[in-house]
Amino acid sequence: MKRATSTASSPGPRVWRNWAGTAAATPARWCRPRSEAEISAALKDAAAAGLQVRALGSGHSFTAVAATSGVALDLSGWTGITAADTRTGLVTARSGTTLRALNAELGGLGLAMANLGDIDAQTLAGALSTGTHGTGARLGGLATQVESLELVLADGSLVTCSASARPDLFAAARIGLGALGVITAVTLRCVPSFTLLADERPMPVEEVLEQFDALAAANDHFEFYWFPYGRKALVKRNNRLAPEEPAGPAAAASAPAMPRWRRFWEFEVMENAAFGTLCRIGRARPRLIPALNRFSSAALSTRTYTDMSHRVFVTPRRVRFAESEYAVPRESLGHVIAELRRAAPRLPDPVMFPVEVRVAAADDIWLSTAYGRESAYVAIHQYTGLPYQDWFDRFESVVAEVAGRPHWGKLHSLDAGRLRPLYPRFDEFRRIRAEVDPEARFGNSYLARVLG
Ligand SMILES: Cc1cc2nc3c(=O)[nH]c(=O)nc-3n(C[C@H](O)[C@H](O)[C@H](O)COP(=O)(O)OP(=O)(O)OC[C@H]3O[C@@H](n4cnc5c(N)ncnc54)[C@H](O)[C@@H]3O)c2cc1C
Repeated sequence: MKRATSTASSPGPRVWRNWAGTAAATPARWCRPRSEAEISAALKDAAAAGLQVRALGSGHSFTAVAATSGVALDLSGWTGITAADTRTGLVTARSGTTLRALNAELGGLGLAMANLGDIDAQTLAGALSTGTHGTGARLGGLATQVESLELVLADGSLVTCSASARPDLFAAARIGLGALGVITAVTLRCVPSFTLLADERPMPVEEVLEQFDALAAANDHFEFYWFPYGRKALVKRNNRLAPEEPAGPAAAASAPAMPRWRRFWEFEVMENAAFGTLCRIGRARPRLIPALNRFSSAALSTRTYTDMSHRVFVTPRRVRFAESEYAVPRESLGHVIAELRRAAPRLPDPVMFPVEVRVAAADDIWLSTAYGRESAYVAIHQYTGLPYQDWFDRFESVVAEVAGRPHWGKLHSLDAGRLRPLYPRFDEFRRIRAEVDPEARFGNSYLARVLG
């Protein structure tokens, strides 16, 4: 999956577009800095020209969080690990490093990220800035794995923040929406490389909901997918094998590593090519969608395998879609899914894609969707080119009943007035922002909506 930031091939202004095709912008100026000094100079030039600035990640947010009509800072030339201590696990990487490159470099050092989301195309800073997360009831999102950050602020100064140095800035900037400065480097708390035993199997959705707390507690990384017209969910359980048994002989006997050909078949052919074909049929004949959806649900099958952690967490996503995701208090998940089950058959435009449910521990990052509460993440999707507004609106009204918090990088309609009561530290975030960026140099229309 390559970076989604693209250029117009015809002459004329260079256009930025996101991966999903749900946001586009025409920056007045593009800049590709290769050092902190060049980032700082770009900010000073932007200030002199009265332009706003956005740092670009890989364009994998569905919202216009990265969009700008001012200066687009392309950090694809600012990558790589700059320091690593294999004893403590502390690793410093430049902010434009993609998670894919990071995972590969960490692997070479015998290290890994403790938890990851389901793709690796994002840049490190881009993933952190919107609160990217994976799943695991005892684990937080990516930002909880950060030890310290270096940022260039609006005035061009370079600052470091951590739990002990400028702790307020640290609490805000780990999930900072790109609103506080340009992150130049991130020091991560990594863990020794580990192997996961993956177990994926269909289960009736009622059973999954009944056993939800037990499944979340009993597995390191638990999630499920459910096709809205189907009766079954695909339950994914990923558990760490003991470090002294890297390949876990007992486990490996029943769940060997997946051979390369099978990986290709399962992930590329079945999950992308075949599913993509069903989606195209559904887009051409929307009335078939519920049947195609039930077919996809009935075709869910069991698989178990072992592999390095990042090769289990991450899978290729080549079929494009629009997505919305909310974090809800764990105990309200049953209500949310029951309402979605009621709503799906009544939608004017049927839904092709499954609902995904994940879990996370509470954390203390001010704009984290899991701030102060154990969370269940509920993500809904629709195949690109199919109408999704009714489904997404219905979803938003259901999660609003349980104080759901939207993922900052996924589609939602909330503004500052509605977000403020959901985040106990919302005003403190705004206070820090006013201190470090009084002229909203890092502003854009999305931030104007969500931060006010
Ligand atoms: C197919 C797909 C799968 C996904 N899976 C998951 C998942 O499993 N879990 C999950 O939580 N999310 C997931 N997402 C959402 C995605 O992780 C987030 O939207 C993430 O922010 C995208 O990272 P990016 O590098 O593309 O950043 P962009 O979308 O380009 O930018 C995001 C924000 O980061 C800011 N930013 C980028 N670089 C810097 C910097 N150096 N300094 C300051 N700010 C910066 C931008 O200005 C912007 O505000 C998925 C998205 C897609 C398309």
